[in-house]
Amino acid sequence: MGQTLFIGGTWKPAASGADFATIDPATGEPHARCADAGRADADDAVAAARSALTDPAWAGLAPAERARILWRVGDLIDEHAEELAQLETLDQGQPIGVSRTVSVRGAAEHFRYYAGWVTKLYGETAPVSFPNVLQYTRREPVGVCALITPWNFPLLIASWKLAPALACGNTVIVKPAEQTPMTTIRLVQLCQEAGVPAGVVNLLTGGPEAGRALVEHPDVDKVSFTGSTETGRGIVRAAAGNLKRVSLELGGKAPSIVLPDADLDAAVAGCLQGSLLNSGQVCAAYTRFLVHHSIADEFAERCARAAHQMRLGPGGAPETELGPLVTSDHLAHVEALVRSGVEEGATLVTGGTRDKDLPGYFFRPTVFTGVRDDMRIAREEIFGPVLSVLSYEDEAEAVARANDTAYGLAAAVWTRDVAAAHRVAGALRAGTVFINMPNPVDASAPWGGYGASGWGREMGSGAIDLYSEIKSVWTSLV
Ligand code: ADP
Repeated sequence: MGQTLFIGGTWKPAASGADFATIDPATGEPHARCADAGRADADDAVAAARSALTDPAWAGLAPAERARILWRVGDLIDEHAEELAQLETLDQGQPIGVSRTVSVRGAAEHFRYYAGWVTKLYGETAPVSFPNVLQYTRREPVGVCALITPWNFPLLIASWKLAPALACGNTVIVKPAEQTPMTTIRLVQLCQEAGVPAGVVNLLTGGPEAGRALVEHPDVDKVSFTGSTETGRGIVRAAAGNLKRVSLELGGKAPSIVLPDADLDAAVAGCLQGSLLNSGQVCAAYTRFLVHHSIADEFAERCARAAHQMRLGPGGAPETELGPLVTSDHLAHVEALVRSGVEEGATLVTGGTRDKDLPGYFFRPTVFTGVRDDMRIAREEIFGPVLSVLSYEDEAEAVARANDTAYGLAAAVWTRDVAAAHRVAGALRAGTVFINMPNPVDASAPWGGYGASGWGREMGSGAIDLYSEIKSVWTSLV
């Protein structure tokens, strides 16, 4: 094992020979070894991507041919759906149902969606105020793109970066998170099988060092990063050397406002789903429930009852509703924040502890009431199965408190009043607002955040903007 770098069309170990183990979070046991890429490997991968960018095997493909390759990747993901789902669950921990639907089906759809875009990358003509001049625009690839992904939805997030990057004709180096590289390795193999030419998609497994080498590299044109806000800040600084394009999808602390007229059954069910998917390891997870004081106690009680009854277990077991957290370090992070909540005076209604009956990194779903806005659990991203219920008096107060955060990725509002729903949606500072529903993503809907949640919008036409440069061409007609 350990031959998991893919550079210029060849699978190889790290130049240094270093490798690392990836762990099954449901057991804490290692299940595979991967090459640990360093700077020399990053240099090689960037050189391969640079060379492939202008290679006729890629740059010379007609749009319809490039589209067919992307479509084929989607089909290959479908053909290998069960294998990919099992692998994601083994490596990441998510319940198999989540792997099958959210991760694998979603990944295939991103490739097909962007396959459709390839033949629709139109330019424009501008009515410039000069006589006898024709002006038009072309969309061109940005160039060599580093795609750095996190550990919560490895296959899906790699796909929602890779598909539009390829659609626009770029070449890439993918750097999956060191905790969860396995499905990205498989995805790169499927790209090869689909006919992506050598050097167009390169893969570096490894940790922060490999990521840093790409971000600092003078011959990388763009970085697309999904991960923590702190690492995102470092990436912005490190990318300044050659002013590479940077897009970032970072942390979140999504508020979910429950207005007094909300359908309480739907709000409780939707809020739990929106907060506990993938054990809360979701940037858009609903974590701050701002509930009108008239229904706050009942809402909290119902949430706590449902959370208490959830079945924890290995993601591969069909009855599992909540899988493990991804690593023991992350488990310790969640545990420390929960402890801070208790110490700062919040009331722990249910959960709050590891599940000691299970061997892996399991944390009981946790509900706090009596949470104040200044507590760490109300301000910091927990990325675990931890819900905080806060009560409010009126709508304006709820919106102001929902917006009192550095983040702005997602938000939710629950009400039967259509005017209130859209009034609140308009007032919330977040890249996405969900009305009366949990928080899915779709290849066609823009995804990204305000403030400390990042820069740019992925998915939809937003990703086309992220992965293309616009060239303006002027021609004298005399
Ligand atoms: P976490 O702290 O939850 O592990 P990070 O945001 O640090 O999340 O990591 C997300 C991805 O970014 C991973 O692929 C990781 O290896 C990579 N990474 C971590 N630090 C850096 C860095 N300084 N530069 C580039 N990539 C990095």
